[in-house]
This record gives sequence, C-alpha cells and structure tokens, in this order.
Amino acid sequence: MVATVLLNKPVREKFLVFGAPDIQEPEIQEVIDTLRSGWLSTGPRCKKFEELFRDYVGCEYAIALNSCTAGLELALEALGIGPGDEVITTPLTFCATANVIIHRGAHPVFVDVDRATGNIDPEKVLRAVSPRTKAILPVHLYGRPCPMDELLKIASDHGLYVIEDAAHASEAWYRGRKIGTIGDVTVFSFYATKNLVTGEGGMLVTNSKKVADEIRIKQLHGLSRDAWRRYSEEGFQPYDVVAAGYKYNMMDLQAALGIHQLARLEDNLKIRERYWQIYDETFASIGGIITPDHLENADFGTTRHARHLYTILLDTDRLGISRWEFMNALKEEGIGTGVHFIALHLHSFYRERFGYNRGDFPNAEYISDRTVSLPLSSCLKLRDVYDVISAVEKVLTN
Ligand SMILES: *Cc1c(COP(=O)(O)O)cnc(C)c1O
Repeated sequence: MVATVLLNKPVREKFLVFGAPDIQEPEIQEVIDTLRSGWLSTGPRCKKFEELFRDYVGCEYAIALNSCTAGLELALEALGIGPGDEVITTPLTFCATANVIIHRGAHPVFVDVDRATGNIDPEKVLRAVSPRTKAILPVHLYGRPCPMDELLKIASDHGLYVIEDAAHASEAWYRGRKIGTIGDVTVFSFYATKNLVTGEGGMLVTNSKKVADEIRIKQLHGLSRDAWRRYSEEGFQPYDVVAAGYKYNMMDLQAALGIHQLARLEDNLKIRERYWQIYDETFASIGGIITPDHLENADFGTTRHARHLYTILLDTDRLGISRWEFMNALKEEGIGTGVHFIALHLHSFYRERFGYNRGDFPNAEYISDRTVSLPLSSCLKLRDVYDVISAVEKVLTN
C-alpha cells in the first residue's frame, strides 16, 4: 500500500511550465519607466533596441517589429515576391513560415529536411528550383544554423533571394558569420517562448539600404520616414503617405523588455548550453531515445547552435508507447513538453490547398512523428533539469 502511494507520487508537485520566459528586475523596472515616460508605442526605446541589436548581430540595418511573422511578410514584399512566384521552404517549421508566402499570393514549395539536423536539405532545394522560384526561405530549426554555404550557392547560381527565418536562432553563428549577416533578409522572433522575449515582437535585419528603407516605411502604414515622431515635443510633424503600408511596428513597452533581454542573451545561452549538455549526456544512454546530432561541432567552433529547443526523438517502434502517451505521462509527473513541429504538409490546410500528402517528405515526417521538446530555459534551476530527467526515466521504465 505504502509502496503504491510512493510510486504514484509525481516527480514534481509544482508543474514545470514548458518555455517559461526569463524576466528579471531590470526589464520590469524599464517597463515601469516606459509607462511613466508616457511614450508607449514606437519611440526612443525601439530606436535604442534596434541599435543595440544591430550592433549585436553586426549587420547594417535592424527594424523592430511586432512579430517575426510580420517581418517575413515584409521581407517577401520588399523583395518583390508575389502572385505566381514560388518560394522554397521546409515543411518542418511553424506555420507562419509558409503562411506569409501564401499571403503574398506566392506558392510555398516544401522540400524535405536532413534527418539528422531537421534543417532543409540543399540537394532537395536544388531539385525543386523552377523558372518561377524567387527565393529560398530556410529555418534555423531549434537554433541550429542551416547549411548556408550550399544554400547561398544555389541562390547565386539561380538568381534567388535568401530570406532566413531565425525565430530560434538569435545567438547562432555559421562558419564564422553571425546569423543575420548572411542572407538578403533575416528575421528573429521575440515571442514569449523564444530565447529573447518581448512578449510579442521580432527584428528584421538586412545589409541592403534599399530593402531597409522600404520596410521602415511599410511597417508603419506607409508613412514617410520618422513619422513616428509626429506627436513628439517638437510639435506636430507633417507626414506623407508614400505606400499602402501595414501596422507592424514594435511598441516601446516591448523594446523596454528587449533591451535588457538582449543584455543577458549571451549569459542565458551559457545556462542553456549547460542544461543541454546534461540532458544530452543522460539521454544518450537511455534506450529508445535519440538525442540531437552534434553536427555543429564539425566546424571547429566557428558554427554555433543557439540552443533554443532541446528535442528528443522517441523510438516509438521500440518503446511500445506513443509520443502522445509519453507526453501525457510526463504531464502527470508535473513536466510540460512541446512538439516542434507537426510537419506542415500533414495539416489539413496545406493538404487541401496544395495537394500535399503523407509520404511526400519522409524525413520531416520521421521527426514530426517522434519529436518531443523538453523544458530548456535559462530560468530553470539545475533541480528542475534533474526533475525532467527523473520524470523521463520513470515514464520509460514504467
Ligand atoms: C515562433 C516562430 C515564428 C513566428 O514568430 P512570431 O514572432 O510569433 O511571429 C516563425 N517561425 C518559427 C520557426 C517560429 O518558431
């Protein structure tokens, strides 16, 4: 009787939330200061955050936006991608990556991923290039940089743009180059679960003045430059509407968070790297679990994984437990988990609209069917990491 009670006691009393944001006093204080300043929407803090982020990445232009999704859409528009065009991307991503292509009236052409990394496979990209292809939209999945040398070669050989979805990859480097300095446009996400958090938010970066000038205007209604100052203490500034723009600007309240999140970004990465290593060493020796590949180590320290999501693959054929059963059992133990991602071509919209089917992208499906994301956040304590490990071990032994 006693033994049964002990056995059924969950590993944790208090639920460990998946993807908890690491918000600390400096951000909280800055938000309060922003509220007191009276300037809530796009203003001086957005400008400062853009400059700090631009310097962090080492690119020419950085534009703060209300989301990464908005940035991807603006990038496609600024590069002239529209009806009839094709954009090659990965099915193993969040739906926003493909939806923005559809919003432009263009066609998302999915190609399969590399089974070891989950990133888009350049050989498959090359095979998918057609006369209508205008761009490649790679996603640095989980924070691991895509094979950019190969993708850039295909792009330059065929006159394609490269727009990078770096929602997971704020801190990533590829062969000595910072992510954000490689493709034509790169967009980062600061959504509540990402490495740098502003609640909602994103940053678009580019080295092209032409692209930056257009997006700067388009992101705020198409108003002429610096129109955000129109209600400043200099008195009302006249503005001109020069394009039918969007309402995609970031607020100073969000930038207030971003400024301090950015200041801790590198330290937080070190914390996640440590937890990652603990997970990796432990899970590598557990049968039925496939741990992430270490391919980034092949570049002798010139490539850096941003360690956004720690994902294991469940060898479901061997374990005799489904992924959903495994996640449910972890929930009963007080551990929150996630799935990144159910491949897009398995969702009804993309199947019905584009005729995609199961079987089209075997590697993406292999990962999609087996992947489970475990908690990995800089606000976890070492104790939490060991709770996750205990819970996984317990679920798999039962
Ligand atoms: C989160 C995410 C996005 C969207 O970011 P938002 O800032 O929420 O718009 C895009 N792509 C990927 C791969 C993501 O994980």
